[in-house]
Amino acid sequence: MAGVNVPSLCYEPRLSPQGTCRLCLVEVDGLAKPVAACTTIAEPGMRVTTESDGLTEYRRLILELLLSETPPTQGCPRCSTLGPCQLHAAAGRYGAQEDRFPRLSQRKPSQDPNPFIRRDYQWCIACFRCTRICEELEMARAIVPSGRGQSTCITSFPGDRLLESPCTFCGQCIHTCPTGALMDRKVVHQLGYE
Ligand code: SF4
Ligand code: SF4
Repeated sequence: MAGVNVPSLCYEPRLSPQGTCRLCLVEVDGLAKPVAACTTIAEPGMRVTTESDGLTEYRRLILELLLSETPPTQGCPRCSTLGPCQLHAAAGRYGAQEDRFPRLSQRKPSQDPNPFIRRDYQWCIACFRCTRICEELEMARAIVPSGRGQSTCITSFPGDRLLESPCTFCGQCIHTCPTGALMDRKVVHQLGYE
């Protein structure tokens, strides 16, 4: 509300805050440790620092760890056609290097043949905005997180096929995804990269 651009990846203004990506950590006078801006209630007289050398270093580290979970940026068809996603825009803002950490094995693209939503989870950073918007806003609960850690994936039932799930194809999951993991197949075809 103060017009300060605090970076975040898991925050979605239409949903309850989750505080998991830790990118929105800010320093508050009187508190020993930084706190997540999205889950901290502002109070009268509170003095908040949103950018500092320490916060920049911390955000760069988080982004470099996230980049190690996804393919190299130069190979991203979404970035080269539509422009950087929120992840890659934040990486550029904080100077995150994509090869600082060894690349982890990536999540697998879904084999879902539905004709509307391209689900390429190799770009997924497990922020769960898609599953939360599907449950909290669309109330469909068509997609859910499954597994833990780097094995976490987003799936639907039965058989990971959206056409057979309660999906309404509202497109809210595509709209909220901060990376190119979810895209409208029509757009993908028009851009010629599928
Ligand atoms: S398009 Fe389907 S999976 Fe995506 S939010 Fe809407 S109902 Fe959920
Ligand atoms: S598909 Fe997109 S919105 Fe869903 S968890 Fe992965 S990065 Fe987040």
